[in-house]
Parts: sequence; C-alpha cells; structure tokens
Amino acid sequence: MAAKIPTICSTRVSDKAKQYLDVVAKFVQEECIPADAVFEAQVGVGDARWENHPDIIDELKAKAQKLGLWNLFLPKGHYEESPGFTNLEYGLMAEWMGRSRTASEACNCAAPDTGNMEVLAKYGNDAQKKQWLRPLMEGKIRSAFLMTEPQVASSDARNIEMSICREGNEYVLNGQKWWSSGAGDPRCSLYVVMGKTGGNSKDPYRQQSVVLVPSNTPGITIHRMLSVYGLDDAPHGHGHLTFENVRVPIANMVLGEGRGFEIIQGRLGPGRIHHAMRTIGAAERALDWMLMRINDPSKTPFGKKLREHGVIMEWVARSRIEIDASRMLVLNAAITMDEQGPKAALSQIAEAKVLVPSMALTVIDRAVQAFGGAGVCQDTPLAAMWANIRTLRLADGPDEVHLAQMGRHENKRGGAVTEQIKWQQAKSEQMLKERGLLKLEPGMRIQHRTQSRL
Ligand SMILES: Cc1cc2nc3c(=O)[nH]c(=O)nc-3n(C[C@H](O)[C@H](O)[C@H](O)COP(=O)(O)OP(=O)(O)OC[C@H]3O[C@@H](n4cnc5c(N)ncnc54)[C@H](O)[C@@H]3O)c2cc1C
Repeated sequence: MAAKIPTICSTRVSDKAKQYLDVVAKFVQEECIPADAVFEAQVGVGDARWENHPDIIDELKAKAQKLGLWNLFLPKGHYEESPGFTNLEYGLMAEWMGRSRTASEACNCAAPDTGNMEVLAKYGNDAQKKQWLRPLMEGKIRSAFLMTEPQVASSDARNIEMSICREGNEYVLNGQKWWSSGAGDPRCSLYVVMGKTGGNSKDPYRQQSVVLVPSNTPGITIHRMLSVYGLDDAPHGHGHLTFENVRVPIANMVLGEGRGFEIIQGRLGPGRIHHAMRTIGAAERALDWMLMRINDPSKTPFGKKLREHGVIMEWVARSRIEIDASRMLVLNAAITMDEQGPKAALSQIAEAKVLVPSMALTVIDRAVQAFGGAGVCQDTPLAAMWANIRTLRLADGPDEVHLAQMGRHENKRGGAVTEQIKWQQAKSEQMLKERGLLKLEPGMRIQHRTQSRL
C-alpha cells in the first residue's frame, strides 16, 4: 500500500498514484488472490485445459475496469491512452500484481501483451494500431511474441533463422519457433514474429525484422505445449510451432525490414522492470506464507514452534533485507528510465533482471523449507511460484548474457582504476619518504621494538 513506498522515492510518487496503489493492493488482496483457486479450478483437467476460458478472469476484468485499474503499465507521456503513471509508480503497482496468478491479466497488464502493446504503440502504423493495438488494449484478444527457435542458440538473437521472404505484395514465413508464451490461449489472435529478411545488409543487427501474423493464418501448426518443471501453465502455455509458407500482406511488417533489433530492444526495457517488480511481489507473498508456517502452533518440531528455532528467524530477517534491497535497485532503475530515458537505465535494468529472480528464488526456497514436505506440493503456492520464477533466469535472455555485458561494461574502468591505484601508491611512497617513515608491513613493528631495546 502507499504506506509501503520506500522513503527514498516517496516524493516522486504522485498523490494520484498513491491512491491507485491502495486500490490495486486491496483489489489484489481481496479479489485476485482468493480468485486464483477459482481460476485453477475453471481451467480444468486434460485437453479441456487448452480450450476453457476461465470466466473468473472476465469477472475480475470487469471489476478492475470499474475501479480504473486498466492498462496501468502504459507509461506517462508516451501514449494518449496512458492512465498517466511513471515507470516508478507502475512498478509499485506491479509488485502487488505479482502476488497473484490472475491480477496482471485482470488489469490488462499481463506479459507478453504488455510488451506487444508497447511495440504496436511505439512502432506500429495507424492501420496496425487499429487492427491489433485497439483490441489488445480493450482486453478482447491476447497475443504472443515469437522469437526463440529450437535449432539455434536464441540468446544471441542474430542466430534467429525464421525466413521472411517477400513475394509480390506478401511476406512468406518458413521456420519453427518454441517457447511461444501465450500461444496456447484460445484468445491468442496475434503472433508478433521475429525472423530474417536478410536483404543485402552485412550488419548482423540489420537482418532481423518483426512481422505481425494473425494466429489463424494457414500454414501455422502448434505441435505441442512445453511444460515448465512439469507444469503446463494452461491456458496460456508455451507453444512449439512451425510455419510452412505462411503468407501475410507486406503491410504487416513493423517499422521496416531490418529493424527487428531496434524493436526488441525497445520492447524489453520497461517489461524487465515490470517482471522484476512482480517478482518482488511474489517474494513478499512467499515471506507471508513462511511467517504463517513458522507461527503455526500445531507444528512444534523438537518441542518448539518453528519461530523459536534461531535459524528460522535468520531466514526471516535475511529475506526482509534481500527483498527490500532488491526493491530499491529496481525502483532506482525505474526512476532513471523516467527521468533520463531507457538508454541511461540499461545497466540498472540488467542488474535488476539478474538480481531479482535469484533473490526471489532464495526467499521462496526458505519458505518451502519451512513448510517441509508441504512446501514442494500443491498445498501452497510456493512450488509453482518457484518454477515460474526460475524461468526468469532464462526468459528475456539468460543471466549469463546480461552478466557478460555488465562485466564488459564494468571492466571498461579497468585501465583508469589501475592508473589511479598506481598513482596513489606512488604518492604514499613519496609521503612516507618525506616523513622519514618506512612502509609498515606485517611483523615489522615487533622487530623494530626488539632492535631498539637491544
Ligand atoms: C518459461 C519461458 C518462457 C519464454 N517465453 C518466450 C516468449 O514468449 N517468446 C520467445 O521468443 N522466447 C521465450 N522464451 C525463450 C527464452 O527467451 C530463451 O530460452 C532464452 O533467450 C535462451 O535461449 P535458448 O533457450 O535458445 O538458449 P541458448 O541460447 O542455447 O543458451 C543456453 C545457455 O547458454 C548459456 N549462455 C548463453 N550465452 C552466454 C554467454 N554470453 N556467456 C555465458 N553463457 C552463455 C546460458 O547459460 C544459456 O542459458 C521463454 C523461455 C522460458 C523458459
């Protein structure tokens, strides 16, 4: 709630955002979290899991719209439809949404639609906006973002092979995609597809393009839905698809041939902040569950409540410290993005992208441990939460790619700091000399005293 805004950024949060934050918090706590179980039950079992649309989502969407909690993620100043919140303000709201399975979708703030809407709003032409952005913003359809391919190392997007060849007034797409999140949902009508138009450019960053493909276009086959640690994530799902001579009009190209890298980079900045804040919300919820378990009077291993065992209090304290520290890092990235633009925030966003999922996995794991066997089964949200958040170390690029970039960036200071340290050492030598002192080394002092007594 508004009272939980970290002091360091509270003056940057408007009164309007503070009010909304309270409404979001109440909506998530009192409507969405209780509805999560209804959602799971309505998804059902077997093949029906990919056909059912849980009605509870529509009920929640209607409530969210009535409360004004709709498309909150669209940043202030960029889009006329934006409700007018900064990345910082929306980040605080996303934290609440991250506590529930249904909350983000209920407020039309769920990935991958949010990223796809930003692509359309930022780079789409009027016709593309009318056809796709409008129904997405109204929450009438859903979408997927198709970049990753099974046959190549897709963490390096230059490797993407899906061919997009121009034939007359059409583009013809051939290739395969996997980890197409959201492709399982019967309401998923749009695929935002990245592939190679190649062209004559020798620059590997100018060979990829982004094309809009209606999901019912002939030639597309969904072969299977991939599981995440055995969970199917239905009805959203993660599809493995092939495209065989899939034809779309040339008007479906976004921004222009060879502009794919530009588009995906623009898509990911705010999205990573949203993911990170939702993940912090999940960590908070895991800590709530841990507190419930360690105060349970019916569980007294070795004659004491769990909270009376010292190590458990250390888990609680460490979790609090780690969550709070991570939140600061993410909100700082959001502020930089708001005040200096996405480019200035790049390395802070990468720091958040790497740190937050690892932090949350540690907190969730402590909560799992506190629950004993119950922690790894379906009786708490913890096991599913862990599986979901573990994937964030891969999705949107694996940790190692971000770490390699950050390492290279940090190491640019290598030459300058070496020079500075050497200069400081030389100056120390000089200062010692001027004062007739010897540089003190371990053991020297005792040796001197012994010598002087003799
Ligand atoms: C649940 C989930 C949802 C996803 N949703 C989507 C989606 O909606 N759309 C989409 O297009 N993709 C999606 N992805 C795919 C995800 O973005 C890719 O899995 C990720 O980018 C890694 O690509 P890859 O799987 O091809 O692994 P590879 O590129 O083969 O990489 C494998 C491993 O190599 C290592 N590695 C890579 N680069 C380096 C480096 N520079 N230094 C050191 N080690 C390195 C890393 O450990 C990495 O995990 C999703 C993935 C998951 C798990």
